[in-house]
Amino acid sequence: MPFKARTVPGKLIILRILNKRMDQTVDEKKYYLYQEKGFEGEVQFDLLTAKIQSECYILNDLLLNVNNTTFQLDTTIIFQKKISFFEVKNYEGDYCFRNGRFETLAEKEIKNPLDQLRRSKSLLRQLLQKHGYNLPIEGYVVFINPRFTLYQAPVNEPIIYPTQLDTLMENLNAQPSKLTTQHKKIAEKLVSLHQTESQYSQVPTFKYSQLKKGMTCKVCNSFSMFIQGKKIVCGDCGFEEFVEPAVMRNVEELKLLFPSLKITTNVIYEWCMGAVSKKTLSRILARNFNKVGVRQWTFYDNE
Ligand SMILES: [Zn+2]
Repeated sequence: MPFKARTVPGKLIILRILNKRMDQTVDEKKYYLYQEKGFEGEVQFDLLTAKIQSECYILNDLLLNVNNTTFQLDTTIIFQKKISFFEVKNYEGDYCFRNGRFETLAEKEIKNPLDQLRRSKSLLRQLLQKHGYNLPIEGYVVFINPRFTLYQAPVNEPIIYPTQLDTLMENLNAQPSKLTTQHKKIAEKLVSLHQTESQYSQVPTFKYSQLKKGMTCKVCNSFSMFIQGKKIVCGDCGFEEFVEPAVMRNVEELKLLFPSLKITTNVIYEWCMGAVSKKTLSRILARNFNKVGVRQWTFYDNE
């Protein structure tokens, strides 16, 4: 059990909704897939660290700030004698390390994860010092994807290649483990300093009119949904869901995209493209929200 679990970033949730409901430019689509892939890599690394046997505190996904500088740590593990943190990269394909730079084989330079690592290490050290802690810190870039190859890979940099993941785990398992309240305090301090990133930063701009309306399948995102009794069924993958949770899922999407929009029966009727009758919608909304007004333009506030 991690001390701090990873959740799907708000930004990614919004990008997922936009991806299925909006025509996106090639760059927007690329950006979305890059975020999705990055998150997938982090989750995969979580599956590995979850198996660590030695006593430690695992903090997944920290967004911290020191001296007005923000930095993000994908995975931080507090051991008895050190703090290890990992910058997880889910790169796939062939890359080359040339003159201290990371490049694609076509010699296009990409952001150097080692620079990011050094920056994070320095900032984390400053942050811990500020709060009176001085455990040694070590940081690694982890390339998690088995299809990643780095030509002319450097030997002396803090990088874990896909073929070294097993060794890394053995290493972490061999860490001396006698945690004290002091370690717990560090873990609690870091979690308390974790900041929430605005989920609307770095998402493409969108208007209500641009979005595809209709209810979507929970499993495959299809819009081909039809009502069958108390359930709504996906015409593409056959997934069945009760109408109420399905409606609420789609209401939540609308609320995430437009947090200040007043939720009314008519608004949701349009959002769901009339898939569910107004009478049923009205009942569902009344059950799930606090009624603020009455009659046709009834406003609901989330409880
Ligand atoms: Zn489906």
